[in-house]
Amino acid sequence: METSDQLERFRDFFESYKERIHEEIAKGGKSVLFDFNELLTHDPELADLLLEDPENLLKAAEISLDNLDLPSDILKVRFNNLPLVNKLRIRDIRSVHLDKFIAVEGLVRQTSDVRPQVTSAKFECPSCGNTMLLLQIDTQFREPSRCSCGRRGKFRLIHKDLIDAQRVVLEESPETLEGGEQPKRLAIFLKGDLVEPKMERRTAPGTRVKITGVVKEVAMPLRTGGHSTRYDLVMESNYIEPIEETFEEINITKKEEEEILELSKDPRIYQRLVASVAPSIYGHEDIKAALILQLMGGVQKIHEDGTKRRGDMHVLLIGDPGVSKSQLLQFISKIAPKARLVSGKGASSAGLTATVVKDEFLRGWALEAGAFVLANGGFAIIDEMDKINQEDTSALHQALEQQIITIAKANIQATLKAQTTLLAAANPKLGRFDPYLPIASQINMPSTLINRFDLIFPIRDIPSREFDTKVATHVLMLQQKPEDLKAEFSPEFLKKYISYARQKIKPMLTKEAVEEIKDFYVNLRNMPSLSEEGLRPIPISARQLEALVRLAEGSARVRLSKKVAKKDAQMAIETLKRCLMQVGFDPESGQLDIDRISTGIPTSQRSKIVKIQALINELTKKVGKRIPIDDIIMEASEQGISEEQVNEALELLKRDGTIYQPQPNIIEKI
Ligand code: ADP
Ligand code: MG
Repeated sequence: METSDQLERFRDFFESYKERIHEEIAKGGKSVLFDFNELLTHDPELADLLLEDPENLLKAAEISLDNLDLPSDILKVRFNNLPLVNKLRIRDIRSVHLDKFIAVEGLVRQTSDVRPQVTSAKFECPSCGNTMLLLQIDTQFREPSRCSCGRRGKFRLIHKDLIDAQRVVLEESPETLEGGEQPKRLAIFLKGDLVEPKMERRTAPGTRVKITGVVKEVAMPLRTGGHSTRYDLVMESNYIEPIEETFEEINITKKEEEEILELSKDPRIYQRLVASVAPSIYGHEDIKAALILQLMGGVQKIHEDGTKRRGDMHVLLIGDPGVSKSQLLQFISKIAPKARLVSGKGASSAGLTATVVKDEFLRGWALEAGAFVLANGGFAIIDEMDKINQEDTSALHQALEQQIITIAKANIQATLKAQTTLLAAANPKLGRFDPYLPIASQINMPSTLINRFDLIFPIRDIPSREFDTKVATHVLMLQQKPEDLKAEFSPEFLKKYISYARQKIKPMLTKEAVEEIKDFYVNLRNMPSLSEEGLRPIPISARQLEALVRLAEGSARVRLSKKVAKKDAQMAIETLKRCLMQVGFDPESGQLDIDRISTGIPTSQRSKIVKIQALINELTKKVGKRIPIDDIIMEASEQGISEEQVNEALELLKRDGTIYQPQPNIIEKI
């Protein structure tokens, strides 16, 4: 098709959309957006050509628009909604797609500063006065090599055209990946009105976007100034728009929706979902049940004054090594929406929240999103959380409670959304979890951070003939016949059920549920003190109150119920109790005591058990592993602890697996 023909046809097309063009100009817009289908129905031949040779055709479109005698400067022409075959995954881009009009989708991983970029430059030859115009399409500034008069080099730059440009790094979103694939990235250039402040906010790191444009190969600029032999792909964007995370993206068919709705009526649905969580891991039902509630999530509340209450509940698993924490996390990362699994080892606050990095291309700064921002609306799963440096964990406070991340570094200031649920696992500092010591002193995490968790579960590795036999049978059976592992629902189906519940169901608290939670809260806080020392009977705080609401909402979602019923409140209370019994239970006073978790100082820290444990540790150093009970009784009596109390304490320590008794009068630490 001749260029003049193209201009004519575009003119014809624009004539029929005159109104839109004038509206855009009246608004002060710098571009006009068309749905590709609009061009396709108007002029299929032209539309086809646009897909084949976008650069020339877009230029023709602009010239044609300019010829319309509009009351505005040059307008850009932008298209969205390309045909399905032109929508590519980043990993599928090949050389045949270069210079074609394509569309990609993904998460904005990094955005650079907006910088002016030279698009064309005019040079003058000092010998003959001739002027030369050079388009600047490469990343490196080009100068003319010779003039028609024969002069080589040293030309005078007399004018350059500048345009605002920004580089964005797009990363494939986890939903589009199949198990184990690493997300691929693509650099995208945005120019002109695509980087206006209004647009810029819509393309903040962590946002899911849809981009149309043209992919080109560019030589990587070397630090030395030359060009590398390695080529990289860069997309020149024609249009970029954020996409709402919608239900369609998880690909639930009509049939599956019916199946989900049918299942939700089963009175045993909760148990069935729980039984499908990590079936290769034996036991830990409490934790699996709590994780289902976490996956369902609570409902975010937005008050009239603009403040928000998070709906996401954070869960921490703290436990002995080798109790399948990592395995569990890995499984959850497969079924949780928008999940990012990171290991605390080597993770920095930058990788977790956000950071400012040097941008090689535009020679400025770029804002890079970390796991919490990229998992906005989904799950951040952190294994070995205790291995993160203290300074780095401090960045998480804001992310966990306010669900935003603010960053001010170099000349970049930004607030990024991080409505992210955290599931974390940590190993105790001393190798083993000790139920008699406050949690805060056992893991390398500030207590303020520990406080942000709705639920904390210790997983303990206590030798028990019965449990060990079952684990062994289960694990060995799976080794023998891996195909025998049958769960009620596949991970794929679990993921669909969960996504459906999270997106479709926003349960509301009923009066009965509120009453139930209130009663529990008030009663527990005002429980008569049992100990003669007058321990403060304030086992839970308002923070747990909110946790209870979230858990109850999660429980309603399990049934796809729009109402949080009394039984949901009871389920929430049961779950919280189970967790508090393990970590917030003061074994001395026999009471729940949230202070153990939050301040790190148990109300009865100097309890006899702690003293006896210290004694055992001392004796182990003195007399070796095998410690005669009589020795303990003797030493303890010096501290005013009676023989009876010693025996009682030893009994407790034996029961929870801290010590064992190889011979009637001897104990040993495990
Ligand atoms: P952690 O992260 O807690 O140190 P891992 O997840 O690495 O532990 O688990 C260690 C191994 O022990 C895994 O292969 C896991 O399958 C196995 N294992 C531990 N406890 C169980 C259990 N209850 N059921 C099945 N396998 C288990
Ligand atoms: Mg592990």
